[in-house]
Amino acid sequence: MNSRDVDVLIIGAGASGLYAAALLQDSGYDVVVIEARHRVGGRLLSPTVDTGRVDLGATWYWANEPRIGSLITSAGLPTFPQHTVGDMMFQPDSANTQRLDGNQLGTPAGRLASGMQSLPEVLNAQLASDSVVLDTEVTSVRVANNLVTVGSTAGTWTAQNVVVATPPSLAMSRITFEPAIDDLVAGLARATPVWMGSTVKAVAVFDHAFWREDGLAGSAYSYSGPMREIHDMSGPDGSPAAIFGFCGLPVGADTPTEDEIVAQLVALFGERAATPIEVFVMDWRREAFTSPPNVEQLTNYQTYGHPDFQKPFLGGRVHWASTETSTIAPGHIEGAFAAAERAVNAILANLHADNSTPGAP
Ligand SMILES: Cc1cc2nc3c(=O)[nH]c(=O)nc-3n(C[C@H](O)[C@H](O)[C@H](O)COP(=O)(O)OP(=O)(O)OC[C@H]3O[C@@H](n4cnc5c(N)ncnc54)[C@H](O)[C@@H]3O)c2cc1C
Repeated sequence: MNSRDVDVLIIGAGASGLYAAALLQDSGYDVVVIEARHRVGGRLLSPTVDTGRVDLGATWYWANEPRIGSLITSAGLPTFPQHTVGDMMFQPDSANTQRLDGNQLGTPAGRLASGMQSLPEVLNAQLASDSVVLDTEVTSVRVANNLVTVGSTAGTWTAQNVVVATPPSLAMSRITFEPAIDDLVAGLARATPVWMGSTVKAVAVFDHAFWREDGLAGSAYSYSGPMREIHDMSGPDGSPAAIFGFCGLPVGADTPTEDEIVAQLVALFGERAATPIEVFVMDWRREAFTSPPNVEQLTNYQTYGHPDFQKPFLGGRVHWASTETSTIAPGHIEGAFAAAERAVNAILANLHADNSTPGAP
């Protein structure tokens, strides 16, 4: 079993956790990131297909997001614009489809040729080799005498500061905090929705982007589902060729099957959609390390960036840092980075104060 002392322990190797770790390491501090899954990235997940990668979590970034923009530039990650050219399809009910002039769903956004998961992979590669511990779930956080003891499925760590880089409601459902968190803050954290945590995202990969040959953008809006909003997810120059959709499901509904996804694509884009190379149906509601069991009941988005999330808790030693806690672009990857930056600034102030204390090392 592990037992180690570090300056800062970060719970979660998603965008916010790894961004915080990189900033702290750059400032010369000893950091460990504990990650429950077998991979880094959290809601950034880009499996390899055919000729590239597709995104089962986040897909887009936007021009007004400086943190993600500068990471992409400094890492030299190739980018390309989301494909929006062509007409869109509309499905008023399951029996009918219509072609509409132009693409009203075509908002300008940037994409990464290597998939969005390459962002956490780049950050991970910048960290010292033993900094990220995978396959390890944090189960308890206990603060006593200005020191935090973190319990996990692989032993305990002690740290001067801890960053909770997971959705607050998920942390409340899986981690025991001691002493108990203030009632108001605990209630706020429990009530905070997980951004896109109630979403099912489906991606179908084809041998080529046949819809573009028909002058279609690969986008659609549907009142019947299972997918409600559909977009082209092809890579640069249409390869790998793919279409994705967000499903809009009633609370508690089963995960749509691959056959249901393909049948809807055939109704919208014709018979050539009947033979995808691969179909992914990613149900984020069922991901134990993204969404708490009641995720579909959490709907108050006004909790995002709440002032209480900007303050450390448990004696000023434990800091929130997921995208939900950000006052800037909450929900986006940019928000995850901004939340991490805020937590790191508070930690640097703490560590500086600790080290200035007479007798401190
Ligand atoms: C379908 C979908 C589409 C999206 N589209 C976009 C988009 O186009 N653009 C955009 O900007 N954003 C988008 N987002 C949102 C974006 O993915 C998130 O804002 C961002 O990835 C959140 O990062 P995070 O670090 O805050 O949280 P997470 O990515 O959730 O990271 C939390 C990490 O903590 C780990 N963890 C959880 N509990 C524990 C525990 N007890 N112990 C140890 N580890 C734990 C998890 O495994 C995970 O790795 C989308 C999200 C989804 C799901």
